[in-house]
Amino acid sequence: MNVHEYQAKEILKAHGVNVPRGEVALTPDEAEAIASKLDCPMYVVKAQIHAGGRGKGGGVKLAKNSEEVRKHAEAILGMQLVTHQTGPNGKRVHKVLIAEASEIEKELYLSIVVDRESSRIVMMGSEEGGVDIEEVAASQPEKILKETIDPAIGLQPFQARKMAYGLNIPGDLVNSAAKLMLGLYDAFVNSDCSLAEINPLAITRTDEKQEVVALDAKLNFDDNALGRHKDIEAMRDRHEEEERELEAKKFGLSYISLDGNIGCMVNGAGLAMATMDLIKLHGGEPANFLDVGGSATTETVSHAFRLILADEQVKAVLVNIFGGIMKCDVIAEGIIEAVKQIDLKVPLVVRLEGTNVELGKQILADSGLNLIAADGLAEAAQKVVEAAREVSE
Ligand code: ADP
Ligand code: MG
Repeated sequence: MNVHEYQAKEILKAHGVNVPRGEVALTPDEAEAIASKLDCPMYVVKAQIHAGGRGKGGGVKLAKNSEEVRKHAEAILGMQLVTHQTGPNGKRVHKVLIAEASEIEKELYLSIVVDRESSRIVMMGSEEGGVDIEEVAASQPEKILKETIDPAIGLQPFQARKMAYGLNIPGDLVNSAAKLMLGLYDAFVNSDCSLAEINPLAITRTDEKQEVVALDAKLNFDDNALGRHKDIEAMRDRHEEEERELEAKKFGLSYISLDGNIGCMVNGAGLAMATMDLIKLHGGEPANFLDVGGSATTETVSHAFRLILADEQVKAVLVNIFGGIMKCDVIAEGIIEAVKQIDLKVPLVVRLEGTNVELGKQILADSGLNLIAADGLAEAAQKVVEAAREVSE
């Protein structure tokens, strides 16, 4: 699960991370009132969407006074913000963060991630902050510093200081930078994060006083741990989640919407991945990833169909089910029931394998429904790609 920058900053602040003063606003009136209350020499108005690159996309604006804050809030609220992370349709902005703007001397990068290679939590830092870190990682990997953390003892103060020195943070700011890193680590572990990123971590100057401040914040949480973080769960923003994905959760389906035109209904995540690979291999593009799970009933299969067909991009559907725990005849009944209930207008390719497969195939053949039967994964993929192509032409 993701949260907005303003929510991430609340969590980080509670763990002692230095963040600029600020509050979230839903309307231009609120934005202006917050600015008057904050009373700073300079403000920043920031679109709150679950995507980065807002600065370049026009979602981050500086303002000199509360009237300017209001004007920017008016322009940003309700806009469809497109950044390199939102996809071409962009995301609608429902909230803006009004914060104190800092005079930036230098922008750094700091994050904490789970490193699969070492099976450890790793803190990463770079002097190349503010920009796309993936680019730095690809072109100048030596500019990224890493500290691997021992899970038994956590991030050690000496490691934080080493990182601070490595990032060339001025001597008298090393201790406060180290404190910020330790706070970031605490937040990461206590909230069961999978990613905590501060980009930029800024060295700022006000009236000859320097500071290290987290100007941006991004936290991702491990969904499996949300059960013990009701406060974080409550931060979920319904606007940010695909309606179909939420709907799927209600029925215990794992559904992720993708950009292609072939709807897939599969059981088991591994088989779903293999199915998507084969569709691509045969020149098609999957419209979704849908795993109905091991114990799906007629009802789940029927809901799964509805979800797939609610996507207007879908030009053909592939059902690829391995009857292990689930029996093929039950799946066949489910498919027939679902197809009868919904008005199926696109070609449907079905590949069944496993327990009671012959019975399942017989049930489908006797149903009189217009299905394309396939034996084997490759044949199924080939047939559905062809079918989608014919419909699109
Ligand atoms: P994004 O990563 O989505 O582009 P950021 O929060 O990183 O959004 O903001 C983009 C840029 O805007 C930052 O790199 C920084 O230069 C500037 N900025 C953001 N917050 C502040 C702030 N409080 N004061 C001054 N500049 C800021
Ligand atoms: Mg940023």
